[in-house]
Amino acid sequence: MRTSPGQGDVFGWTVLLITHSLVDVDMTNSVFDSIQCGPFKSDYHRTAVGQDFRSALSKYLERELLTQVTVGTACFKGSLVASYDEDRYCGPRSLVRDIYKLSVEFGSGQRKESLRKEIVYDANKNSFKPRREKKLLLWTLARQAQARAIEDLVKRVDAEQLPSANCPVCDTNLLITNEPAIFAVTCPTGCFQHDYHRDPKSGDFLHGHLFVREPE
Ligand SMILES: [Zn+2]
Repeated sequence: MRTSPGQGDVFGWTVLLITHSLVDVDMTNSVFDSIQCGPFKSDYHRTAVGQDFRSALSKYLERELLTQVTVGTACFKGSLVASYDEDRYCGPRSLVRDIYKLSVEFGSGQRKESLRKEIVYDANKNSFKPRREKKLLLWTLARQAQARAIEDLVKRVDAEQLPSANCPVCDTNLLITNEPAIFAVTCPTGCFQHDYHRDPKSGDFLHGHLFVREPE
C-alpha cells in the first residue's frame, strides 16, 4: 500500500472534477445555447426571446437536428432573427410575429452541413415547428452528394442524349422526357424530379427545378 503526501490533494482534485461534471449534466449545456438570437428591433421580440424561449429552442434543435449531423459539433455557429421584426407586425392578432429565420452551420470548408429555414414559435406550448416543411432537414454531406449525383446524371442524359438511365438513389429506370421546349428526368419511385424549360428554337436553358423527396 502506498501512502504519499500528495494523496489528499489527488483525492480532493478527483472530487472537484466529479462535482464539476455533475453540474454540467444538471445544466444540460447544449451546443445550440450558443445561437446568436437577435438583435431585435421590436419590443415584442425583445421580450419574447427570453430564457424559456432559448431553452425550448435548444431542446427542439437537439431533438430534430442533432441526429442528422455527421461532421461533429465542435465547429458550430447559428443565428436566429425575427422574420417580421417591426412593432407594426407584432400586434395581438398578428399571424407572423412568431416566425423566425434560423440559420445553423456545422463543420467548415468542404465538410460543412447547414440549414436555413423559418421556424414558428408557439408561446402557449413553448415549442417550435417548421414554417413550411414537415421537418427540419439538415443539408448533410450525404444529401449534398446525392443532389450532385442527380445533377451530374441529368446533365449527362442531356449532353449525351442518353435514351435511358438509372436513378442514382434507387437504381430504378428513369423516365426521360426530351422535347424541344422541355427536358425532364423523373424517378418513377419518387426520389426526384428534375426538369428544365428551354427555348424551343435555340435550345437555350430558360429555368429549371429540382424536387427531391423528403425523407420519412
Ligand atoms: Zn429513385
